[in-house]
Amino acid sequence: MEPNWVVVFDFDGTLIPKSYKSLYDVVDSNGGVTKHCRSMIIKMREKYLQKAHAGKLSKDDMRDWLIKTINLYVKSGLSLNKVEKILKRVKLRKGVAECFAFLKKKKIPFAIVSYGIRQFIEIAFKLNGLDGMADKIYATELIISPKKRTITGHNPRVVLSGKSKNVFSREFAGIYNVSPENILGVGDSSGDAYLSDYKDNILGIADNQEEEEKLKKSMGEVVITKNFYEVISWLKRKMREAENQESVNNELDCADPNCGKEVRICRNCDNFMPRPPKIEN
Ligand SMILES: [Mg+2]
Repeated sequence: MEPNWVVVFDFDGTLIPKSYKSLYDVVDSNGGVTKHCRSMIIKMREKYLQKAHAGKLSKDDMRDWLIKTINLYVKSGLSLNKVEKILKRVKLRKGVAECFAFLKKKKIPFAIVSYGIRQFIEIAFKLNGLDGMADKIYATELIISPKKRTITGHNPRVVLSGKSKNVFSREFAGIYNVSPENILGVGDSSGDAYLSDYKDNILGIADNQEEEEKLKKSMGEVVITKNFYEVISWLKRKMREAENQESVNNELDCADPNCGKEVRICRNCDNFMPRPPKIEN
């Protein structure tokens, strides 16, 4: 049976607390790159991060930032073995595991759509016991040498800007024949508003009121929270609201003109069910 919904999550600041900034940041601030490369990365990050959080980062900016960062990883001889050691310190938000388990139980496919690096995200999931849970990870893919697992480059097909997030979430929904209005997205920055074409289908996670106000402009709902439990409640509520709306829409008059009875379609079996008789006083 095809699912009614798909869910797409941002990674940095959404599945992991904002205090980490990003997996890039964790890797290169904990010995992933040489001192010289680290100072170059810091300079670049300062320049682009402000734009990114305002959702104003151009594709050229993003490409430039990404390629230069990966080149500095290559220059530093960074390997995935080292990345694994460094990322041991990263803990996902409390409730992420429960959220994934809920979606699995409901057979709702979910994907990660991130500006980050696919292998870093996979490692973080593995270290948190959630290996292979996400149905798809849309993020930059590194090219790795098979012997020492060092980074040698990247695949040119990448998630480049906020707007391109919607291309990937639509692609993901398409795999399951789910229409774009049934994509639910969760993120923590303005660019994540593009996870869905429908503002009401986006939940923002904020650390404080200031962030909340900013995100409210482009997202249907924003919660100030450190954990992921409110995300689970929101997903359940969105799905329940849509189902209730559907069952109201399904209350029709019977096709038999002699009948005159109202009928509705059962949500479980799709059969018409007669309405219970009215009790007359
Ligand atoms: Mg983010």
